[in-house]
Amino acid sequence: MHDWLHFPAVRSRLRGSLLAGAIGDALGAKTEFDSIDRIREIAGPDGITDFIPAYGGVGRITDDTQMTLFTLEALIRAHAQRRREGSADVVQSLQLAYQRWLHTQGVAWERARGPESDSPAPDGWLITHQELFSRRAPGLTCFGELEAYGRTGKRGSVDHPVNNSKGCGGVMRAAPIALWSENLAELFTLGAESAALTHGHPSGYLSSGTFAVLMHLLLRGEPLPSAVAIARLELERHEQHEEQSVALDQALALAGEGPPTPEKLESLGQGNVGETALSMSVYVALTTPDADSALLASVNHSGDSDSTGSVCGNLVGAMYGEQALRASWLDRLELRAVIERLADDALAEFADDAPAGDDWYQRYPNY
Ligand SMILES: [Mg+2]
Repeated sequence: MHDWLHFPAVRSRLRGSLLAGAIGDALGAKTEFDSIDRIREIAGPDGITDFIPAYGGVGRITDDTQMTLFTLEALIRAHAQRRREGSADVVQSLQLAYQRWLHTQGVAWERARGPESDSPAPDGWLITHQELFSRRAPGLTCFGELEAYGRTGKRGSVDHPVNNSKGCGGVMRAAPIALWSENLAELFTLGAESAALTHGHPSGYLSSGTFAVLMHLLLRGEPLPSAVAIARLELERHEQHEEQSVALDQALALAGEGPPTPEKLESLGQGNVGETALSMSVYVALTTPDADSALLASVNHSGDSDSTGSVCGNLVGAMYGEQALRASWLDRLELRAVIERLADDALAEFADDAPAGDDWYQRYPNY
């Protein structure tokens, strides 16, 4: 069913994508809201060249990576449920995974779980990791809309938007959606719907659909320029795509003008909304020769450094693979072992001979 997952390079690309996303997130964690001038004051004239202590340590990830992990967990659980029961609502699985994330942010389980759930405690393997229970400047839109779901049980969607937000909180968590299907239209739709749970503006969710398709193509080994072209065609099939399409075109045009600088990157935007988080990340990935330089370029600007670091990291980690990542970053990266294990579990679940048995289903239970 998912033949491409058996390609030997896919494991390295998937792990690389998740790990590099987390590294980029951690590199930008301290300076999420700082100008490039302030970044140079803090980190020196070259800007950020290594982890800077943030949230009480070095290599600490933020909400971008936390939520990305819950996205991947949701896909594994929905896939396992579909195997066992014949069907599963993957969007519901995503919603409830994000409710578990909300609980890690200090919201009591009774208020986070949603009115349809009577589960006495959050379940599954991922949430057993205490390091996830830490607030790292969580996005207010994500937080607020998930709290609202906890009260009402009303799910946001593309057809029934919850708000008019185009913040980058949808796209920043969407990379794992790439695994769900080999059908690009289906992937785009799931990427968009996953974001529409919390973000109702087209650029808030179309960015996520585009990113899911792009990530899928990269994991399959498609070179970035053609992957962007294919993802952009998929984007164009959706209403109100223009803002995201224009943002990508600006990134492509600027990429023709040589290596990135903070000033060039900032000319594309701040990265705090869906369309520029994606376009700035694509720009950096197109204009750098390796993962190391891409990760640094992606966080050295005046905008939402951890989110562009995270999204760009997802892209270049898939392009260059796990082995291309700087060892001193991997060694100090928070939750590294959990990230690697979750990636491997995803490949196991999506493989033809997926695990069965009580252990696995306790690890990845229904919803
Ligand atoms: Mg963040």
